[in-house]
Amino acid sequence: MRYWLRYYEKSRLAFHATHDALTGLGNRALFEDRLHQGVELAKRHNQQLAVLFIDLDEFKPINDTLGHSIGDQVLIHVARRLEKVVRPSDTLCRFGGDEFVLLLPDLNNVQQAEEIAERLLVELALPYRIERHELYLSASIGMALNDERLLHPEELLRQADMAMYKAKQQGRNNLQTFTQDINQKLTQRVTLRNDLQEAILNEQFELHYQPLLTREGRVKGFEALVRWNHPSKGSISPGLFIPIAEETGQIITLSQWVMERAANDFLALQAILPNHCRIAVNLSPMQFHRPSFLNTLHSTLEATGLSAHSLELELTEGILMNDTEAAIETLHALRTMGISIAIDDFGTGFSSLSYLRHLPVDKVKIDRSFIVNIAENGKDAAVVQGIIALAHHLDLLVVAEGVETSEQRQQLIALGCDVFQGYLFARPMPFEALKSWLEEQEILV
Ligand code: C2E
Ligand code: CA
Ligand code: CA
Repeated sequence: MRYWLRYYEKSRLAFHATHDALTGLGNRALFEDRLHQGVELAKRHNQQLAVLFIDLDEFKPINDTLGHSIGDQVLIHVARRLEKVVRPSDTLCRFGGDEFVLLLPDLNNVQQAEEIAERLLVELALPYRIERHELYLSASIGMALNDERLLHPEELLRQADMAMYKAKQQGRNNLQTFTQDINQKLTQRVTLRNDLQEAILNEQFELHYQPLLTREGRVKGFEALVRWNHPSKGSISPGLFIPIAEETGQIITLSQWVMERAANDFLALQAILPNHCRIAVNLSPMQFHRPSFLNTLHSTLEATGLSAHSLELELTEGILMNDTEAAIETLHALRTMGISIAIDDFGTGFSSLSYLRHLPVDKVKIDRSFIVNIAENGKDAAVVQGIIALAHHLDLLVVAEGVETSEQRQQLIALGCDVFQGYLFARPMPFEALKSWLEEQEILV
């Protein structure tokens, strides 16, 4: 009897050292052990081996809103579903959180691993019934395959992780296989991220300004667009570094710099500006959702001396999609201050036009992609016409961005568009150039 108890205790301890208490799956220690064995065997028998990194897409919101006990049950359900698909010789582990890792040794070919991954995606996407909730989840899977050049088995884990990151970027619920190309892109991102830190410290940024004009060609204001003058790589597009700064949180410092610089530049021009001109600044989602956003903005206006009536904020539909109620409240507060609000890249989001009705905004900026072919493509023209009709009905002004040709301008005027921005009128330009440009415009003011 004693002996059995002791034996039981011992094996229980051994189990805990190598297994995850919640799901009963293996843990990282077990995985690494099997990975070393697997790579050795694959080499000896000339077989293919794959590591799959499986990360749930929407687990955190479930955990946050429904509580940890539901979250735990979701993880257990996920574990059971994964087990259903894997073969007895495979090793399935949980590394903590919603990260699962699967080792597929002795494969005949790569397709076999892909088939398993596809089956996992299908299985995980079926609805989950947990207590009274019906939940839907998906996963992003990254896959790495062994090859002779591999120095350490652990490298496969890192590669699968990188491929998973790419799967997330591709819109989630999909499988990506590691390639050297992914490696390069990620390395580039990491370098940029470090460089960005330097850039913030050393103020390698500059603002360019692009005018917005009325139908008659009068200056209504201008949009501030940030530029990064990299010491060795030259000018880097905001399209490239803003998403990275978003991801790392560096956007907060950067946005603050943009806001202050834009305010100071605007004030320096005030003597030559027509009345009712505004400076438009792009807002990042992270900035907008910070609890301190309104207070910080308030302080910046006070510190710089910029009037709220001279400021316009541009935000995308995406910013308003999550936590809509809180977002609407913030918008109301901004408008009460006297700040004007424009919805940027309008038409590219997922929202229906009718949601505009609920938003306290002043303007919509129709995305450039609808303007590009407006003169030739009847469908694009119809969309633009629809947006303009609805916006006017709601008392909103309509801006067309990316106007490059006079045909586009003609067409937009015919459709009733109110404000124009694009290379046809002026490209974004440095502060000094804007000053000269404004002085030339004087006749029209
Ligand atoms: P956006 O807000 O949609 O800005 C308009 C973009 O279209 C700018 O690109 C502008 O240079 C470009 N553009 C303007 N007119 C034309 C035209 O006629 N033809 C063409 N082909 N393009 C035109 P840019 O400066 O590269 O900025 C890209 C994006 O980066 C911006 O898109 C904005 O989302 C973001 N961004 C720029 N500055 C800031 C900033 O200070 N803060 C934040 N959060 N985002 C910024
Ligand atoms: Ca914009
Ligand atoms: Ca835009």
